[in-house]
Amino acid sequence: MICPHCQVRLEEDAIFCHWCGGKIDSDEARRQEEEKAALARQAQAQVQKVVGNRYYQLVFSFFEAHGGKFILSWNWPAFLFGVLWYLFKGMWAKALLMFLLGLLFGGEIAPLLWLYAGLCGNWDYYLLKVKKTQFWV
Ligand SMILES: [Zn+2]
Repeated sequence: MICPHCQVRLEEDAIFCHWCGGKIDSDEARRQEEEKAALARQAQAQVQKVVGNRYYQLVFSFFEAHGGKFILSWNWPAFLFGVLWYLFKGMWAKALLMFLLGLLFGGEIAPLLWLYAGLCGNWDYYLLKVKKTQFWV
């Protein structure tokens, strides 16, 4: 059971929260917990609808669980294939941007682009599939 006042984990039969001292209405606490679980299931179902790949379902669920905020992650195919990976995944705007940056700055910028792709590829793919945007906002 979770304290509805401060979200601390409690014994199932607690009457008062040992952390904040709040009175525990166990029905209310249980209801809140179920609501949270239902939301998590909903997010999961949503993610399964937009992407079939199990790996991306896990990654997207992770982003969803953190309120859909940016989190660094690592994606080997994105790191290894860079622009091609972006293109292949349908993120043509970012692929084009990377390509143009490569043209402008030459080979020196390539390691930065690879690193970016590796660290942000999952997030960019999430933005495309869940937030429906080619860009960052
Ligand atoms: Zn509490």
